[in-house]
Amino acid sequence: MSKKLIVAIDGPAGSGKSTTAKLLADKLKYLYLDTGAMYRAITSLALKHNILDDEKEIINLLERTDIELTYSDGNSRVFADKVELSDEIRSLEVNSNVSDISKIKKVRQILVKKQREIGALGGIVMEGRDIGTVVFPNADVKFFLTATIDERTKRRTKEMSEKGKHVHEDMVKESLLNRDKIDSTREVSPLLKAEDAIPVDTSFLTIDEQVNFIYDEVAKVAKSKGVEL
Ligand code: C5P
Repeated sequence: MSKKLIVAIDGPAGSGKSTTAKLLADKLKYLYLDTGAMYRAITSLALKHNILDDEKEIINLLERTDIELTYSDGNSRVFADKVELSDEIRSLEVNSNVSDISKIKKVRQILVKKQREIGALGGIVMEGRDIGTVVFPNADVKFFLTATIDERTKRRTKEMSEKGKHVHEDMVKESLLNRDKIDSTREVSPLLKAEDAIPVDTSFLTIDEQVNFIYDEVAKVAKSKGVEL
């Protein structure tokens, strides 16, 4: 049987990664992995333990915690030692602190190792910031999603208000820009387009359009590699 593909989707917050990656995984019947949820989970735990400023303690905590991600029917869930954290990892507090936790080299090493183990067999759509550059530099197909800051702000504000969190657009914009800045300038695996990633500006695309475009590109690669989708 031919090997299944590894599809890497990177880009900043609000660029459409999650929506696209989930729908693509459903369409391909592949696994879906939201690597951001892992960084969010350790951030949420660090907040709970009040150790945000203590790198050593954070690493210690991550080493002894089993972070598990599940996905089915469009619904991704996160557990730490079997305790569900799916809602709390999306809190404003986690949003404000996750990029600082993600800068810690050892945190990245531990999580990247886990991500590689999960994706090793292929048949996976993995989304994040460094999938095409660091986690799977040899991924079969790579995409780098972008959108204008105003569009990303609009999407995030809407998403939050649908979950009952009514936040002013200016605040959302500031938080996105702040995360972009930390994520793009950090020393270890910054948010970067891999040279061979296909750029997709989703600002003016519908969800169907972006998923179809990406699916068609994956199908081309599959065909060229003799892989059956
Ligand atoms: O994708 P999401 O916005 O949920 O990611 C939250 C944060 O996790 C990002 O802002 C970034 O700091 C970090 N992250 C990362 N590397 C990844 C995925 C996420 O550093 N592969």
